[in-house]
Amino acid sequence: MRPVKKECVGETIKLFESVGDMETTDHIIQVEYKPYQNARKVLLANLGNYCSYCEGYYANGSDLQTEHIQPKGLKDDSGRLLYDHLQYKWSNFLLGCATCNGKGNKGTKDVRFEDVHLPHLNNTFLSLEYREAGVVVVNPNLVGLSKQNATNLIQLVGLDKPSSETDYRCDVRRQTWDKAQKLLKQYQGGEVLLDKLVAYIKEQPCWSIWYTVFSGYDEVRQKLLEFPGTCKECFDENNHYNPINRNPGKKDPI
Ligand SMILES: [Zn+2]
Repeated sequence: MRPVKKECVGETIKLFESVGDMETTDHIIQVEYKPYQNARKVLLANLGNYCSYCEGYYANGSDLQTEHIQPKGLKDDSGRLLYDHLQYKWSNFLLGCATCNGKGNKGTKDVRFEDVHLPHLNNTFLSLEYREAGVVVVNPNLVGLSKQNATNLIQLVGLDKPSSETDYRCDVRRQTWDKAQKLLKQYQGGEVLLDKLVAYIKEQPCWSIWYTVFSGYDEVRQKLLEFPGTCKECFDENNHYNPINRNPGKKDPI
């Protein structure tokens, strides 16, 4: 899962006035957005047109919504909303597609930040491993708390589910893996040049699959790290842009 660099409250971000418009305006990130839907275009400018969880790509950001990390609809036994105070908070937002945020996946599950890896707090590229046929597993090199929190991330979003009539994510990963292998061969053979390859990948889902398949091609990886919102600091420019710990010295360094 692509680790993202979410801008902090008070920082300035460039917003496009409308789709296709080249004019930008400066926007200072607010503590709260009321209604929360107002945060959507700020999130799109910050994180790009990608689902924060499954990495689905949506041209113009259509079908991507303001995602509440702590679900706004979760109630306690007496029917009181548990996280109403977080409903408008920038700190509680990511971008989510309908599937990742839907019933049976993230939905209204309670999220304990210390128990799960999240793409704006952890190096989630280290948490998971993407393989052929659409398979996603916990990085087999992880141990202890990191392993547990990576496992919790997969379960939270339901990334290990097979595709169904309402969930195409596994199929998308499988197809993307095959596409990436084909493009890799073409790139090796000089049939596709770097800029064209990168422009193509930018409008594809599954950033992590492309980053995995193009391991060993530093010039490609370097460009993938330039995609909007990607946390470059999670990768070592002196070692083939391989992932590094985001929280060194902490109990869970990932
Ligand atoms: Zn998604």
